[in-house]
Amino acid sequence: MTQMNYTDKTTRVAIIANGKYQSKRIASKLFSVFKDDPDFYLSKRNPDIVISIGGDGMLLSAFHMYEKELNHVRFVGIHTGHLGFYTDYRDFEVEQLIEDLRHDQGEKIAYPILSVEITLEDGRLIRGRALNESTIKRIEKTMVADVLINQVKFESFRGDGISVSTPTGSTAYNKSLGGAVLHPTIEALQLTEISSLNNRVFRTLGSSLIIPKKDVIEILPQRLGNYTLSIDNKTFTHRNVVKVTYTIDRKKINFVSSSNHTSFWERVRDAFIGDIEP
Ligand code: NAP
Ligand code: MN
Repeated sequence: MTQMNYTDKTTRVAIIANGKYQSKRIASKLFSVFKDDPDFYLSKRNPDIVISIGGDGMLLSAFHMYEKELNHVRFVGIHTGHLGFYTDYRDFEVEQLIEDLRHDQGEKIAYPILSVEITLEDGRLIRGRALNESTIKRIEKTMVADVLINQVKFESFRGDGISVSTPTGSTAYNKSLGGAVLHPTIEALQLTEISSLNNRVFRTLGSSLIIPKKDVIEILPQRLGNYTLSIDNKTFTHRNVVKVTYTIDRKKINFVSSSNHTSFWERVRDAFIGDIEP
């Protein structure tokens, strides 16, 4: 597709949709509107705005597609279904999104993300970023790992594994694990246990920990073997993991600030409580 009248003021827009019929329909509508609008330039490369169409899961994928361009990219989510946590627009609000983008002044809402660093036995270092959470688990046997906070040993963990979530990820896997829901303006990480073993011999804190910005969490597995690590929707296995380090990343994820951006507590209520009948 070719577009004319490209100027410095043109907003470069990438449209990413999941495979659902409804998502594809919205994507083609947006394509046809922006294609003929000189203020916008459709491009998957080097975009200013990434429009993700689908659910929160789709926004996670969009984040990972553009995680190396967080400095200049802003995201906006359209949800085909119930309203999500990362999605400000519903499928029937596409016209409003188009209008909002036409009047957009570049305002943004920023949320913290998680930095993950995995050290392997051979010295290799694998780096990643999570928008929701990262986990380390040992599947075949109990995971035994030292948990350090700012280089000081906090506890010796035994159990299935550990999850470290961002504030916006606190409503995802973290919540299923019994973690607290954290408002995203609180720049902190949450360490949550996955089935810890607690008896007279082995002891962990038992509750989840809210860890402030600049603090460093280190997980040091004490047994050789395979470890399953996850970063958001991706999972991989590594042998003999020496250390996993979690910190709040220097970068943040930026969203297009919109009139549709409802309060976090309303989203939590709508997602988990619903309408309460007296
Ligand atoms: P998925 O298994 O297809 O969906 C996981 C569900 O979590 C979807 O309903 C998704 O919403 C929702 N979700 C995603 N991010 C959320 C958030 N920040 N707050 C509240 N709900 C959220 O996997 P996926 O869509 O690729 O998402 C990967 C995520 O699944 C992981 O980051 C992890 O948080 C979560 N997960 C949860 C469990 C658990 O609760 N036991 C186990 C593994 C993974 P949409 O329907 O809008 O996409
Ligand atoms: Mn999903």
